[in-house]
Amino acid sequence: MRTPSRLALVSAFLIASTAGAQSARPPVAPGPVNLSQFQQLAHSVYKELVEINTVDSVGSTTRAAEAMAARFRAAGFPAADVQVLVPQGAPTKGNLVVRYRGRGGAGAPRPLLLLAHLDVVAANRADWPRDPFILHEENGYFLGRGTSDDKAMASMFVASLLQLKREGTVPDRDLILALTADEEGGAQNGVEFLIAQHRPLIDAAYAINEGGGGTLEENRPLFHSVQAAEKVPANFTLTATNPGGHSSVPRPDNAIYALATALTRLASFSFPVALNEVTRPFFANTALVEPRAPMAAAMKQLVADPKNAAAAATLSADPRYASMLRTSCVATRLSGGHAYNALPQTATANVNCRIVPTSTLEEVRATIARVIGDTGIHISMTVPSRERFGATPRAVEPELLSATTQLTGRMWGSIPVIPTMSTGATDGRFLRAAGIPTYGVSGIFSEPGETNAHGRDEKLRVKSYYDGLAFLDALVRQLAVKPKA
Ligand SMILES: [Zn+2]
Repeated sequence: MRTPSRLALVSAFLIASTAGAQSARPPVAPGPVNLSQFQQLAHSVYKELVEINTVDSVGSTTRAAEAMAARFRAAGFPAADVQVLVPQGAPTKGNLVVRYRGRGGAGAPRPLLLLAHLDVVAANRADWPRDPFILHEENGYFLGRGTSDDKAMASMFVASLLQLKREGTVPDRDLILALTADEEGGAQNGVEFLIAQHRPLIDAAYAINEGGGGTLEENRPLFHSVQAAEKVPANFTLTATNPGGHSSVPRPDNAIYALATALTRLASFSFPVALNEVTRPFFANTALVEPRAPMAAAMKQLVADPKNAAAAATLSADPRYASMLRTSCVATRLSGGHAYNALPQTATANVNCRIVPTSTLEEVRATIARVIGDTGIHISMTVPSRERFGATPRAVEPELLSATTQLTGRMWGSIPVIPTMSTGATDGRFLRAAGIPTYGVSGIFSEPGETNAHGRDEKLRVKSYYDGLAFLDALVRQLAVKPKA
């Protein structure tokens, strides 16, 4: 994932609001002592993946894809169903697609796609207290680059398919595993390459991906989120120009002032509330765990009447809820002027937007133009956007939501399962835009910010790893292996 997940943001808030009562943090619950054969298998896959450097430009996802392919071939998967796909001209950007064939036949449900990315963000040995490309286990944590983003889920999917094969379980639908390149760096050689050049290999009823997970508070599970939509990132450049001149003879017209005026207008503007099939149940469910009564009440009111401006205003007081309600645009970079003693000829600002998936780039650009109300300010895309819009958020696939709710209840008790729209970007956005609904579901629980994905000493609780493994394995079976009548 490329920015902090919605889950981390919301949960950080919910936990913070009860911070008063917190005493010294209890020790992390330990993981299982005697690993089952299945757990040992998953651990060995996890270790193998973490210890292959798959950082863009220095590592290779092809090596990781080949290593997993070797395991599937050794387990007896037909060669035709185990494909390492390397984009032309990108030898280190290999992807793996494995198909575990179901019983098939008339009435067989369409395939299920299990998606995880193999690439990780950079990790400099000098910055870490240990080698980031060795899987360490200390104090109840697995440590290393990719331990949470995203090699845990990758290894769980691999182990689950190998286990199904090992025990000879034939599912009722095909199970497709796609382990991809370039999620962290732009996806041209990953999911987009598979969609563009190998669509039949990954076509599915829907996909399970990263982006969801559970929230812990002092080892206690609080809620379990399912990512069902995500906002689309886009950057706009606002440019003010002016003939300039000598600064000793200033004029009222000034490029920097013009830009500042435009930004001030943008700063006090809020895009209209745009709830959707995902954010409505998000607020309905979050109201159940939201400790602040006025906030919980406002959530219920807004769900009942999305035009309730007072409820929206209450929720907008919290930036995390505000970003769930609407598109957001914020200035993130600024530059202007060319000499201390010259009137500025150019001033530019970058405006980073997180666009609700029901909107479009054009709609946002037009709104920015209207709000700044100055045709002298030029609005352009900072980087050409490859983003796709128009994938209307849809409610979580019923069979997936009910299986997740059932298993969550069985494993973590009566905590809410909450659909979320993440402000962070995953490869799900490309699949959704290509017509394959994608959901972030993992069963991996952590305290907010604890994993430090993308950061130094990335980690994942040992117990959460094996609980996540049990959850995802049970979920895949429940979705793919219908109980015999
Ligand atoms: Zn990720």
